Amino acid sequence: MTSPGYVTPLVFVTGGVVSSLGKGIAAASLAAILEARGLRVTLMKLDPYINVDPGTMSPFQHGEVYVTDDGAETDLDLGHYERFINVRLSGKNSITTGKIYESVIRKERRGDYLGATVQVIPHITDEIKRCIDAATQGFDVALVEIGGTVGDIESLPFLEAIRQIRAERGPDKAMFMHLTLVPFIAAAGELKTKPTQHSVKELRSIGIQPDILVCRSEQPLPDGERRKIALFTNVSEKAVISAVDLDNIHKLPMWLHAQGLDALVVERLGLADKAAPADLSEWLAVVDASEHPIDEVDIAVVGKYVDHKDAYKSVGEALRHGGIRQRTRVNLRWIESQDIERDGAGRVLAGVHGVLVPGGFGDRGFEGKVLAAQYAREQGIPYFGICYGMQAAVVDFARHVAGLEGANSTENDRQTPHPVIGLITEWRTSSGEVERRDEKSDLGGTMRLGLQEQRIKPGTRARELYGKDVVGERHRHRYEFNNRYRTQLEDAGLVISAKSMDDLLVEMVELPDHPWFIACQAHPEFLSTPRTGHPLFVGFVRAAREHKAGGKLLKEAKA
Ligand code: GLN
Repeated sequence: MTSPGYVTPLVFVTGGVVSSLGKGIAAASLAAILEARGLRVTLMKLDPYINVDPGTMSPFQHGEVYVTDDGAETDLDLGHYERFINVRLSGKNSITTGKIYESVIRKERRGDYLGATVQVIPHITDEIKRCIDAATQGFDVALVEIGGTVGDIESLPFLEAIRQIRAERGPDKAMFMHLTLVPFIAAAGELKTKPTQHSVKELRSIGIQPDILVCRSEQPLPDGERRKIALFTNVSEKAVISAVDLDNIHKLPMWLHAQGLDALVVERLGLADKAAPADLSEWLAVVDASEHPIDEVDIAVVGKYVDHKDAYKSVGEALRHGGIRQRTRVNLRWIESQDIERDGAGRVLAGVHGVLVPGGFGDRGFEGKVLAAQYAREQGIPYFGICYGMQAAVVDFARHVAGLEGANSTENDRQTPHPVIGLITEWRTSSGEVERRDEKSDLGGTMRLGLQEQRIKPGTRARELYGKDVVGERHRHRYEFNNRYRTQLEDAGLVISAKSMDDLLVEMVELPDHPWFIACQAHPEFLSTPRTGHPLFVGFVRAAREHKAGGKLLKEAKA
């Protein structure tokens, strides 16, 4: 713990030229190095959009909604952060313009501003500063990423707040790292530094002089370009860092460390006394395991946003981690569930070694997910259902094994004769009627969210994989396994392998007569990291290897 009164030094991370430069991964990688130097480090994200949180945004627009232990629905960059450092983040680590305004307006209505005219400066900027301090105190150092691109109108209050922090606290308490693009123009055969110069000019026009530039480019930045950028941007040459497109994001900590990025931060923020030499051995082991696989498997991920893979970011990462733990390359086949509805599961899923159906909402493509579960169940292909993927598996089992014709989730069919999945308020009514959902209720923040513990049944595959009786996993869903069908489905052979601690909610199901068929209501992908993997994902990838090998594994290897 830091001493009382210690003001956490902050590294602000901004982006310029274009979005999607990998700011989140760059920030997370720097944090990973600082952690590997023995510092207590945290990360936070400031998003300039007006939504209070990304929970209501379409995955097409915004990618995955990442859920923290406390049930906050946050930006997917928090997933990168948690995968790169050993800190569990919370809602405090993900701030949006909407959240800031919501809080300021609440204070204004309560009369907290004592008659003042409430303005962007100082009231909004003060609130931003308060949120930054709330999320970062108690750490040796913190990285604060500002979403969007410099020059956006909506990010101005955030940039003004961080400018003020630097002016108030001084250069040893706040520094600025700016990510830009150095494009390669094929026709000229040259890397172009002008966009970087312009982006820094834009930052300087609002009073921010970057201390570090991280330049994304296809090729390593040649010395000439580095000198030119340094000269035109007033950044020291050694603080112009090159970030090339790497084939493996886990190499980035090593790449940045080799250029002395962490040393610049440690020196400037006065952390040298606390910092040890960087021990990146765990990251080297992760990279080594990915680069020298002894096996590979093809896994189908059946969803409905598959053209926008960021929608399933953590699932894809967790599968890869599961592979890393056993030196296995996991090739992901992103399958549009409606393709299965159209062409049949046999055609679309032919040859895969495992089928994963991830979370989702709404009826489009749901039948394709049910068909995927049915196919994996009947063909003995390892199946991993997550949230909607569990619900789809239960619907398949109810219809095709338990003989409950027309079984469905009430999310998709309100009139189903067998609502095996429904809202708790539907299946808990004493009359036995399926109630109507309140059409006008808010969509934001009405789900079962966050980390909840569950008790695993002894003797199940889930128990064997987790290696303990009680585990906590993060949730994000409205619908639940309908308890009125528990006995009927159990009698037909479905094993309920985990329940909520109060015994009320079904958390996991599995099929004992199948090589590997596990489905869970929670989202284990949010707790997988490259350095540890997650037991369910590790088990699933292992089962896929066994399936590929026709039952038994010839080689074993650990990362
Ligand atoms: N749509 C389902 C529900 O609300 C599943 C949610 C999910 O997969 N995250 O329960």
